Amino acid sequence: MPKRNIIIEPDPILRKKSKLIETVNSELKILMDDMLETMYEAPGIGLAAVQIGILKRVIVIDISKEPEKKSPLFLVNPTITYKSKDTSIYEEGCLSLPGYFAEIERPAECHLDYLDYHGKKQELKAKGLLATCIQHELDHLNGILFIDYLSKLKKDMIIKKLKKQKNNLNKIVI
Ligand code: ZN
Repeated sequence: MPKRNIIIEPDPILRKKSKLIETVNSELKILMDDMLETMYEAPGIGLAAVQIGILKRVIVIDISKEPEKKSPLFLVNPTITYKSKDTSIYEEGCLSLPGYFAEIERPAECHLDYLDYHGKKQELKAKGLLATCIQHELDHLNGILFIDYLSKLKKDMIIKKLKKQKNNLNKIVI
């Protein structure tokens, strides 16, 4: 069982804007540790706090392929300072949209400012999978999901199916 419950679309909280963090304190570190554990167990390569129901601008990412070589990245209050004109396309999925994938085009490279696990200011230049992952997670902080880049028809169909799956989960026979 993951440490915290992951919120599945459709849920109004996934559409809310997350709030800036004022200080990186021990409470926030506990949240970041829990998020990382939840992400590893899911398993996924990125998780935003809103996905476990907390509207704070915090993201955890780990794109390392080998499980024994973990390299977690904690991003507090991330802001993108540069996006390349070049784009790349990845087939994206999301822990809040289980079972659905779509090819999404995003800037191939991005630079960002953020605070790390210890509250220290950092800069990062990302490209490839990491750049896509960062942009996907940052979207979460602004209430945006990858299905928002699809046609309305496709998006509505996915939301309808997810809603149906959720309703079935709630039904019990005793
Ligand atoms: Zn996601």
